[in-house]
Amino acid sequence: MQFHNSTADFFVPDNAASDEALKRTTHICIAAHQDDIEIMAYHGVAECFGRRDRWFTGVVVTNGAGSPRSGIYGSYSDAEMQKVRVVEQRKAAFVGEYACQIQLGFSSAEVKNPKETTVISDLEQILQVAKPEFVYLHNLADKHDTHVSVALRALSALRALPKDSRPRKVYGCEVWRG
Ligand SMILES: [Zn+2]
Repeated sequence: MQFHNSTADFFVPDNAASDEALKRTTHICIAAHQDDIEIMAYHGVAECFGRRDRWFTGVVVTNGAGSPRSGIYGSYSDAEMQKVRVVEQRKAAFVGEYACQIQLGFSSAEVKNPKETTVISDLEQILQVAKPEFVYLHNLADKHDTHVSVALRALSALRALPKDSRPRKVYGCEVWRG
């Protein structure tokens, strides 16, 4: 699978071949930031944990460049912090026994630009292989513009799927704030 950004990260916790790993997906969360998934789609993670007939895939669309930092990360540059965030998200996927963890590495500005089609085409590629039954997105009334933009790009990608490949349910989820 060829993603737009060379920094995109495709991680399979149990080392299955990447296409096979993604194909087994039944539940998927497409989120803006690292850590969003574990709050907003905990339901999906728990539904799939320890099962062999259900598999959860996490997709993080942005690169974590604007992450808050203090304490041990106080002196980290944006580039260093992005690497830390990618590793943190891989650790979450390992603990949660995800099918795959994909991090697409876009900037917030790219995600928020309605003319930027690469975000949608990366998401389409993922959805065409994963063919999830259940999809967890940010909700469209979220206060955070990047969250709403990721949800809109994900909806565009879902609408591009042939009807028989579309999910049974798409949930709009709360994360961090009400
Ligand atoms: Zn977020």
